[in-house]
Amino acid sequence: MKVELAKMAGFCFGVNRAVDTVYQEAVEHSPVYTYGPIIHNEEVIADLERKGVQVIHSLEEAKEQAEGTVIIRSHGVTKAEQETLVADGLRVIDATCPFVKKIHRLVQEYSDKGYLVIIIGSVDHPEVQGIVGWSHADRTVVINCESDVEKLDLNVWKKVCIVAQTTFNYNKFQELVEIIQKKGYYSESTVDKDSEIIVHNTICSATKERQEAAKELSAKVDA
Ligand code: SF4
Repeated sequence: MKVELAKMAGFCFGVNRAVDTVYQEAVEHSPVYTYGPIIHNEEVIADLERKGVQVIHSLEEAKEQAEGTVIIRSHGVTKAEQETLVADGLRVIDATCPFVKKIHRLVQEYSDKGYLVIIIGSVDHPEVQGIVGWSHADRTVVINCESDVEKLDLNVWKKVCIVAQTTFNYNKFQELVEIIQKKGYYSESTVDKDSEIIVHNTICSATKERQEAAKELSAKVDA
């Protein structure tokens, strides 16, 4: 069988950075925990386990640890989770990818200013759950498809800020943004000087490059 490798493959910058941090901490400190598996890769997790790194899955589990270092993975966590880990007295190392951290800052800023924050992504994804936790719950929605947009009542919101899960499909993001705009909220007849829609395309370039490489590769291979 002939095997072709996509132009872009392997760990992205953010995951690499988080994994390196865990390996380094495992040498320098003990005990070391990761808050959730640091990566979706069983071999790496098993290797880290052999080096003494344990995975904890909840704040309750973290609370049970009398001491140690806990590393937040590249997906990031909610503001409340981060604060609880610190309050529990653990040494917290934040390995949230800087691109995800930027989304945390954006949603916090716009939510504080009273904007409705629309996150385009999967509500069950840990990154999205983390992002939601940096925004005000009463003015945050997660949408994923056209029917989610249809359910939105944008007329009650004068200001809207849209962001995306870093790994969301770029074309689908564009489509959903256009549908939101076409809902008429910003049409000539309803436009209001105070109304505003701010779109931050926060899809990571590593994701976009991998999506394009996979598409290109799929045209040349059988599977
Ligand atoms: S935001 Fe991009 S670089 Fe960061 S962890 Fe996600 S895919 Fe990797």
